[in-house]
Amino acid sequence: SHSDEHMIVVEDLHKHFGGFHAVDGASLNIDRGSITGLIGPNGAGKTTLFNVIAGVLKPTTGRVFMDGEDITGLPPHTLFHKGLLRTFQIAHEFHSMTCRENLMMVPGNQSGETLWNTWFGTRRIADEERALRAKADEVLEFLTISHLADQKAGQISGGQKKLLELGRTMMVDAKIVFLDEVGAGVNRTLLNTIADAILRLNKERGYTFVVIEHDMDFIGKLCDPVICMAEGHVLAEGTLAEIKANEQVIEAYLGT
Ligand code: ADP
Repeated sequence: SHSDEHMIVVEDLHKHFGGFHAVDGASLNIDRGSITGLIGPNGAGKTTLFNVIAGVLKPTTGRVFMDGEDITGLPPHTLFHKGLLRTFQIAHEFHSMTCRENLMMVPGNQSGETLWNTWFGTRRIADEERALRAKADEVLEFLTISHLADQKAGQISGGQKKLLELGRTMMVDAKIVFLDEVGAGVNRTLLNTIADAILRLNKERGYTFVVIEHDMDFIGKLCDPVICMAEGHVLAEGTLAEIKANEQVIEAYLGT
């Protein structure tokens, strides 16, 4: 199943917590350039699967490949440098920083405390900071939240935080982004802004997305294909219409 169109290949993945099989033989492919939806009832193993793919958790058994390379068990920062990113809630300690500063904090751009910088660096650091700031402002503009640049991240709304999380992926050269529950507690208007940002990142910048979301309107607007998980493995894959008509999927949702 390793063809060029598959950016990510997951083979028979298992993640056990003690005797509990949160991910229980999941196999799936993520097509390059797709916006793939991941749905399924609560407890289906979606978040755990995300965390294993993104290196946050080590799998019990199974393999994950990216562009044909075995990336199983690689730590998040290594995957990050390969362009595989999972969005995270803005951590509490970053709440007192502005939105722009939060974007400028994303690792991967700064040359850091190298000897070169210590000797000759003052000017270079100033240049880099200017470039970083310009990039952060460009990201804020792309996401239509330029007006939030100087606001503290702890003071913006839940939906605006989601946009900022998405913005952090734009500070590096992401290839594939895993988004966990973008829509939770977000109002319609902002949800549409988030959906538009995802679509534009996909079309204009070639991002591949994998999106966990409960809001079926959101999934329907954005995602093809949709993968449905239940009890730790993949039940069905297809368009949202196909998934909704699938007997096993209906049963899995009714069972919860
Ligand atoms: P979903 O995202 O589909 O709702 P999760 O991946 O969050 O599902 O959880 C799958 C199952 O694994 C749940 O029953 C959850 O309680 C369990 N689980 C998740 N993380 C842990 C953990 N760290 N320790 C023990 N059980 C866990």
